[in-house]
Amino acid sequence: MLREAEAILKKYYGYPSFREGQARIITSILEGNDTFAIMPTGAGKSLCFQIPALLFPGITIVISPLISLMKDQIDALNSLGIPASFINSSLSSREVKDRIRNAEAGRYKLLYIAPERLEVDSFLSLVESLEISLMTIDEAHCVSQWGHDFRPSYRRIGPFIKKLARRPVVAAFTATATPEVKEDIIKLLGLRDPALLITGFNRENLFFSVWRGENKRDFVLKYLASNPGHSGIIYAATRKEVDQLFTLLRRKHPAVGKYHAGMSDKERAESQEAFLYDDLKIMVATNAFGMGIDKSNVRFVIHYNLPKNMESYYQEAGRAGRDGEPSECILLFTPQDIFIQKYLIEETVLSPARKQNEYRKLQAMIDYVHCSRCLRGYILEYFGEENVPADCGNCGNCKDETEPVDITVPAQKVFSCIVRLRERFGIKMVAEVLKGSASKRLLRLNLNALPTYGVMSDTSLTEIKDLINRLIAEDYLSLTQGKYPVVKLRPKAVAVLRNEVQVHQRIVTRWTTLEEDSALFEVLRRLRREIADREGIPPYIIFADSTLREMARLNPTTPGELLKIKGVGEAKLERYGVLFLNAIQKYLKNQQTGAGYSSKQEPEAD
Ligand code: ADP
Ligand code: MG
Repeated sequence: MLREAEAILKKYYGYPSFREGQARIITSILEGNDTFAIMPTGAGKSLCFQIPALLFPGITIVISPLISLMKDQIDALNSLGIPASFINSSLSSREVKDRIRNAEAGRYKLLYIAPERLEVDSFLSLVESLEISLMTIDEAHCVSQWGHDFRPSYRRIGPFIKKLARRPVVAAFTATATPEVKEDIIKLLGLRDPALLITGFNRENLFFSVWRGENKRDFVLKYLASNPGHSGIIYAATRKEVDQLFTLLRRKHPAVGKYHAGMSDKERAESQEAFLYDDLKIMVATNAFGMGIDKSNVRFVIHYNLPKNMESYYQEAGRAGRDGEPSECILLFTPQDIFIQKYLIEETVLSPARKQNEYRKLQAMIDYVHCSRCLRGYILEYFGEENVPADCGNCGNCKDETEPVDITVPAQKVFSCIVRLRERFGIKMVAEVLKGSASKRLLRLNLNALPTYGVMSDTSLTEIKDLINRLIAEDYLSLTQGKYPVVKLRPKAVAVLRNEVQVHQRIVTRWTTLEEDSALFEVLRRLRREIADREGIPPYIIFADSTLREMARLNPTTPGELLKIKGVGEAKLERYGVLFLNAIQKYLKNQQTGAGYSSKQEPEAD
């Protein structure tokens, strides 16, 4: 059976082998077991139910939470030459009727619906005439009240399956695996003795790093300037923060968009679409953005604020690098972010038990920010993985590309100023005293008489504030809660004042972290874009970046060679093969003549 599955993987998807876990999940479904698969975002869940759907007789119903997600997946399936469709509220009643007729006539192997469809009579009578072999629930955490995207209609699925004359195999997929969610899903869907398959949570191609106490705006501007042309998501905690950051970035980068729940449905849909089509390269968004974003070429995800827990973090960060190419997940941390998250818990979580649970999860997130061990190891252990390597060699802690700079003296100035101020003032006043500002309040309180007044007059006020924030983030100082947070010393700072320990700051030595794409890749990308426009589907559905990159590296010249490239299956070879082969050939030819020409000129430095 697995051999047939592998043949489909090659023929339709153009992939040479299954990823970790996929074969086990597919085998379990093909053997007729109810199956509950937990795999991280981007690990490749879709294949695990699509391939059985092709091998089973009859049809597979896929319950999917979002309209945009359905359209995307159906576009992708159709482009692979797989007969599939969706029925949802975006269609006219005529279109729905047509599709129901097609389903009845056995023209689809997969039919995607939202759970709400199970409440529509015309759909229920369609179902009676279908041979349903497999029911798939994608993003199954939506079934559970403990899952973060809970939808009441999801409760209909269990009873719906029960009522079917012939019970299909039921398979549920999610990336969220807490015990409560797991139990809820199994119970509410009525899974029978399910095979529970949890694959490794590791995403090898993702580089994780944490930056504490940086000036976030400067950091993001520098990062974008150093890694131009790449697509990424920047998550911020609040709508206000998204709006501000968007305005700032938009001035320098025209291809920046934004997304949050305060925008109209239309604005959001447009923004999302532009991102999928690569018209917008960078999306500044709240966590409202992302479910249903299967865009495979997201090269970086920056968290501008601390997320509420590791589950959210890993899901959001995991939207980078679905195509398996090296990608970055950066978390920018300032301690003020903790207050935002605590505030949100206080405001939104009512039950004391859940509140406690949320605080516990937030603390694990804060521990991630401060841990000095392998970040990947921390994440994997959090998700219960065993045999975690001590040093992954691919995170900010294992592969430190920063240089330590001694900042003991300025830190001592800050600490002693705080001592002189008797730990009664906030960041702004501490900075003003150090700077030697003549603000009204400062003069009124006679703080210009302090011995630390003006001891950092050479440094700008912003830089002093940045330094204080950095010292808070590194736990030398703490910030009280409340409307007017006050800076206080922590034991670590006392040791510095006594000259017992030194303070170091990590300075970034290499800003450009993502590989620049080759000229041929750009040519192929442009071609892909033209085809996408013509066909009205997002570019990455035609070919993933990783596929174009492999083409640009291996320069295939025959259909046979092209078919060997990862991500080129038979349907795509037929449809696009000639176009891409021609483009590669033309490029190579120009290269040759171009090279002859430029050899007469000065050699170019690269
Ligand atoms: P998930 O639903 O788990 O978040 P997807 O099913 O959207 O992930 O898959 C993520 C990406 O990985 C897609 O671009 C998909 O084509 C690719 N992919 C899946 N399985 C394989 C495989 N065996 N080899 C190569 N690429 C794969
Ligand atoms: Mg998915």
